[in-house]
Amino acid sequence: MVLNPVISKLRGKLVVLASASPRRLEILTNAGLRFEVVPSWFKETLDKSLFKTPYEYAVETAKQKALEVAQRMPFKHLKTPDIVIGSDTVVTVDGLILEKPTDKQDAYRMLSRLSGKEHSVFTGVAIVLCNNKSGSDTDYKVVDFYEETKVKFAELSEEMLWEYINSGEPMDKAGGYGIQALGGMLVEYVQGDFLNVVGFPLNHFCKQMGLIFNSPPESLAQKIKREDSRASDESWTLVNSLSKISRNGEVALQEISNGKDAIRTSVQEQNVMRPNCAKCGRQDVPHSIVDLLDGFKASKTLFTASKLKVFDVLSISDGLTLEEVADQINATVIGTERLLDAAVSLGLLEKAKQQDKSNAVYRNTEEASQFLVSDSPQSLHGYILHCNDMVWPLFSHLESAVREGTSQHERAFGKKNEDVFQDAYYSKDEVKMRFMNAMHSIARVTGKDVATAFDLSPYKTACDIGGCTGAMAYEFTKAHPGLSVIVFDLPQVIEMRCHFQPKEDNDRVSFVAGDFFKSDLPKADLYILARILHDWSDEKLDILLSKLSKICTPGCGLLVSEILLDEERKRPSRALLQALSMTEGKQRSTTEYCDLLEKHGFTPKHIKHTDNLLDAMLFVKEDPNDRRTLLACSSASIETAELE
Ligand code: SAM
Repeated sequence: MVLNPVISKLRGKLVVLASASPRRLEILTNAGLRFEVVPSWFKETLDKSLFKTPYEYAVETAKQKALEVAQRMPFKHLKTPDIVIGSDTVVTVDGLILEKPTDKQDAYRMLSRLSGKEHSVFTGVAIVLCNNKSGSDTDYKVVDFYEETKVKFAELSEEMLWEYINSGEPMDKAGGYGIQALGGMLVEYVQGDFLNVVGFPLNHFCKQMGLIFNSPPESLAQKIKREDSRASDESWTLVNSLSKISRNGEVALQEISNGKDAIRTSVQEQNVMRPNCAKCGRQDVPHSIVDLLDGFKASKTLFTASKLKVFDVLSISDGLTLEEVADQINATVIGTERLLDAAVSLGLLEKAKQQDKSNAVYRNTEEASQFLVSDSPQSLHGYILHCNDMVWPLFSHLESAVREGTSQHERAFGKKNEDVFQDAYYSKDEVKMRFMNAMHSIARVTGKDVATAFDLSPYKTACDIGGCTGAMAYEFTKAHPGLSVIVFDLPQVIEMRCHFQPKEDNDRVSFVAGDFFKSDLPKADLYILARILHDWSDEKLDILLSKLSKICTPGCGLLVSEILLDEERKRPSRALLQALSMTEGKQRSTTEYCDLLEKHGFTPKHIKHTDNLLDAMLFVKEDPNDRRTLLACSSASIETAELE
C-alpha cells in the first residue's frame, strides 16, 4: 500500500537490487516492486574499527554494494540502471558486530553469545539514483538510512545450539540465525520491524521512496560526483546538498569530502572512486576504459566455460575440485585452473574450502545455475554458443566491416551472408540446430515479459511470424488462457520443432510452414513479430508489412518485440553493438518503429520497456475511414508507454 504511489512513478525505470539474498528478493517482490537482481561484487571487508557505530558500518557497506553495481552495469550489462538498492544486515551484541558465520564453530560462537540476551539487528540501506546525463557521464545520488530492531533470545542449551547449527540454516545469515524459519524458535521477543531482522526494513524503505519521489531530487540526496581538483589530489567526492535526510531522527549526511574521514578512507581502499589531479598530473585510468579493455576477455571466458560445459559439470555435484573438473571437461589442470579462477573473478563460480576435501572446490553461483547450465529452464547456453561460434568471428573482422560498410560473413566463414543464413535456416546440420537453440534460449528468457506486456484479452487467435521453435508462442498461451497461437516459420525450421517441444505442451499452439515473403499468412486477429524487423532491408520489410497490412482488418493487433534504441542513441545498448556486425537490416528507436509501422496503417497503442533483453510495442490496424484513432508518433509521449 505504502509503495503503491511510488510504483507508478517507477514504471519504465530500471530498478536493481544489488543483493543475492533470496529473503530481500522475496520481501520486495511481495511489496509489488519490479526489479532486476544484480548481486554486488563489493567484498564486505570494510575495517569495522573505523566506524563509530555498527549502523554506520552497515550503511557504508550497503552504499558500496549499490555503487559498485551502479558503476558496473553500464559496462558489463550495457545498460544504466535508474535506481540501485543496496542493503547490509548486521547483528550486534556486547559491542561486537556479527556477520555471517564462516563455519560451524563460528556459528556456535555467535549463537552462544546471543543466548539468553537481547541484541540489536541493524540493516543499512542505500538507494542510489543514477542520472545518465550524456554518454559516460553519470551522476549518483545516494539516499541512505538504517533500521534497528531488538531481539531477545531464549537461553539455549548445548543440544539446541548444535541441533540448530547442524540444520545448516545459520550459515548464510547475519548473526547465524534466520528468524523467518527454524531460528524463530530461539527468539523470545522482537521489538521493532520484524522484516528488518529477516533482512530488509520494508516499511522504512517505502517511506524513503515516498520522500524521494515526492520531493525535488537535488534537495534530498547526497550527490556524489567525481571531480577534478585544482588544489588537491584528494578531492573526489562532493556532498552537494545542504538539506539533511532524517535517518532514525539523526543526521544522515556524511562529510565524505573530509580527507581524514574514516569512511572516506575505507571507500578509497575499495577503489570505488579514485582520485584525479590535474595539477600533479596524477590520472588513474577510469573504470569505464579498463572494463572495456578487458570486456572481450571476460566474454570469451564465459563462452569457453559454456562450450567446455563447466557449468553443466558443476551442476550435478555440490562442489568439485580443480582436478575433478579438469578430468570431466577433458582439459589440462593448469588451463582449467586459469579458466575457473577467471570465472570466479567474474562472479560466475564460487570457490570454497570444503570440510571433507583437502583442496578447495568450485561451485556454480546462483546466476550460473539459473542461466548458464544447459538444461535449466532459463538457460542462455544456446545463445552463448551462438555468440561464440557466429558473432565472435564476425566481430573479429569489425575493422573491415567499418571500412567496407559490409557484413563480414565471407571473411569469417568463407561464405556469402545469404549462404550462412541458408545454413542457419535451410540445412539440417548442427548450424541450424545451434541457431534454433540460440533463438529458443532468448525466447524462453524474455517470452514471459513480452507476453505479459499488454492486455491481450480482446484477441483470440495470434500468429507468431518467424516464431521459430514456438518458445514465445507457448509463453503467450500460458499468459493468456483465451488465446491460440499459430507459429509460422520456414518449413526447414518447423520440421525441427519436435526437438524443442516443452514438457507442458498444449493444443493452443500450432505450427504452419511457409515463407513470410512469398506464402499466404495464416488468418489471426493478433500478429507477433519478435526479433524479425531488425533483420531485413527496408525493401524486404515493405513486402512483409504490406502483406500484413492487407490481411489485417481494422482493430487487428500487431505486437512488435525488439530492443528499442534510445532516441538519441547515447545510452549503451546491446542493439547498437549488434548493429556493428552490418547485417542487411538495422536497429531502430521507438519513433523509428512507429514511423515504419504507421506507413503501413498501424497505430501505436502501447510501448513497454521490459528491462529484460527485449522491449515490446503494441500497434492496432486503424480504420482508414476513421482517422480519429491516428496518434502522432512523437517520441516523448510514447516512451512512457501510456498512449491510452
Ligand atoms: N521470433 C523468434 C524469437 O523472437 O525468438 C525468432 C527470431 S529469429 C531472429 C528469425 C526467425 O525468422 C527464424 O526463426 C527464421 O527461421 C524465421 N525466418 C527467416 N526468414 C523467414 C521467412 N522468409 N519466412 C518465414 N520465417 C522466416
